[in-house]
Amino acid sequence: MNDRFGRNITYLRLSLTERCTLKCAYCRAGEGFCPKKSELTRDEFLRIVRAFASIGVKKVRLTGGEPMLRRDLIPILSGIRAIDGITEITMTTNGQHLAGQCRALREAGLDRLNISVDSLKPERYAEITGGGSLALVLAGIEEAFAAGFPSLKLNVVLLRGQNDDETDDFIALTKDRPISVRFIEYMPLGETDQANLRVTGAELLKKHPQLVPVEPFYPGQPSRDYQMPGYVGRVGLIDPMSHRFCADCNRVRVMSDGMIRPCLGSNTEFSLKEALEQNDDDALLAVIAQAIAHKPETHCFDEAFTAEKTMRHIGG
Ligand code: SAM
Repeated sequence: MNDRFGRNITYLRLSLTERCTLKCAYCRAGEGFCPKKSELTRDEFLRIVRAFASIGVKKVRLTGGEPMLRRDLIPILSGIRAIDGITEITMTTNGQHLAGQCRALREAGLDRLNISVDSLKPERYAEITGGGSLALVLAGIEEAFAAGFPSLKLNVVLLRGQNDDETDDFIALTKDRPISVRFIEYMPLGETDQANLRVTGAELLKKHPQLVPVEPFYPGQPSRDYQMPGYVGRVGLIDPMSHRFCADCNRVRVMSDGMIRPCLGSNTEFSLKEALEQNDDDALLAVIAQAIAHKPETHCFDEAFTAEKTMRHIGG
């Protein structure tokens, strides 16, 4: 289905839960774990994906919160795999729960994995994530390759003075393996404003002038891709703050509370809850069409923007 700016919406990001066991400083403030709020059921998620597939969505990304905290993740995955028209399923995870699970994820139909890892130094990783284990992430990466994932994307939110001295180490990971390291600009979607920590894509390119631009893997890809000459993997810049890519955006998001959000950088949302409760698939499609019709031309991440929800709620 096209939006009013001619963008064809083919990509759904599904936030399975708001819960997360990590407390990344740029995402969450305060102590303690996230309380469990009411979440859509597996059947509700599958009905939503079926509705999206019927209007041309082909790709689904599972995210959160931490999607691996859903006990029914594998049945959700295999349920989506069985839906006609869905050709690609991906998942973004913090990697804390991957070890021992990669083969099951692959067998259930997961095509690709994005793993977030903001530092390659164990103590620093624990500090940034509020107690996460780098060893678990690294074990997960090895296991994912062993389980047959052909390539991996690693997400790094670059934070000035916290991890921006590690870009050489991250880029080195792309030397011999099909790994895409994607450096992400901090977006104003945290519980506290950390804009002063943002490192722009342009700064990164200035620091690494050897990076050579390469064609994207697919049209509408959020990252601008580069390669070190002779390296197997890639370096991607996801810099929505300094380099808008809204004209190519083909995504909408559905959150675990049943709200649909046409744009990450706008607070506008629509509720699928009533249509789900009434078991009314026509009404479900009508709300989806309404949300797509209200997808803004561009995100609102400017000075005046105040996020009503954080990335953990919306799904990255
Ligand atoms: N828990 C999973 C994970 O850690 O990958 C999935 C959800 S997380 C919200 C998805 C991605 O969003 C992560 O790579 C995270 O670092 C990134 N993220 C969270 N808050 C962000 C922010 N304010 N700006 C930019 N990226 C952010």
